[in-house]
Amino acid sequence: MPELLVVGSVALDSVTTPFGTVREALGGSATYFSYSASFFTGVRLVATVGDDFPQEHLQLLRARGVDLSGLQVSKGRTFRWAGEYGYDLNEAKTLDTQLNVFADFKPALAPEPRRVPYLFLANIDPVLQLNVLRQMAKRPKLVALDTMNFWIQGKREDLVRVLREVDVVTINDGEARQLAGEPNLIRAARAIAGMGPKTVVVKRGEYGALMLSDGAFFSAPAYPLDSVYDPTGAGDTFAGGFVGYLAAMDRVDAPTMRRAVIYGSVMASFTVEDFSLNRLARLTSGEIAQRYDAFQDLTRVEASRA
Ligand code: AMP
Repeated sequence: MPELLVVGSVALDSVTTPFGTVREALGGSATYFSYSASFFTGVRLVATVGDDFPQEHLQLLRARGVDLSGLQVSKGRTFRWAGEYGYDLNEAKTLDTQLNVFADFKPALAPEPRRVPYLFLANIDPVLQLNVLRQMAKRPKLVALDTMNFWIQGKREDLVRVLREVDVVTINDGEARQLAGEPNLIRAARAIAGMGPKTVVVKRGEYGALMLSDGAFFSAPAYPLDSVYDPTGAGDTFAGGFVGYLAAMDRVDAPTMRRAVIYGSVMASFTVEDFSLNRLARLTSGEIAQRYDAFQDLTRVEASRA
């Protein structure tokens, strides 16, 4: 099975939404990504946690077959993020970001992970993203990247440098506008493509996802849910479904990319149904297949011909 490598955050999240609060729950961009992608392909995770990180969280990832040999346990405190959402769940307000052990994390990839054909640079310091990309023994078939306002503001130059070298960027709508300095989303997507990645996937929360690939747009709705509790991790879970599916198919042509957007949307639609990884932890492959079919029905216009 083609393999996927992810570098990103493994975190303890404290989150408040209008529907509840969790304190120091399992989170992090690499966590959501790898859990989601593990339904499609083999995943290796590169990150660091502190010596305060609960063992049971690692067990959850191991149980899905995520390879944690690249997860370094460092002396100190795990990365922590605190955020809240109002009734408009589309935008997270960051209350606190503590990089902790990530502040001086220097990953050293073993020989095997340097050869994986699919690489995801999940939301983390762009310097770290570039460091991992540079360690690859040969250029992977696909390099995808995600980022957020924290790094767009704080490390813009480094981010622009790594963007030049990636094939796909996944980014949410507000951050796409911020990165491009352009209020119109279509122009913003084109401007980001101009920075390097030939595919730009803009995540639009409850409004779905918009992909610009080789100059052509593809739009997918979000799955209509009547119970959304916590959108944290939706973007990373989307990316896990998207890149996980591409890696599983070992193809990156246009029809496969479109299906991948739907698998990304399917995975994200589960994450938001509960806090932390609680819904993903109960997820089955059967439910993924069912929701993929429901997505087809959601957007079908012409009756299929017999
Ligand atoms: P999202 O999929 O965009 O909702 O990402 C949410 C996850 O990103 C949370 O679980 C956080 O732990 C993580 N996160 C928040 N801020 C950062 C940051 N500056 N760098 C890396 N990861 C972050």
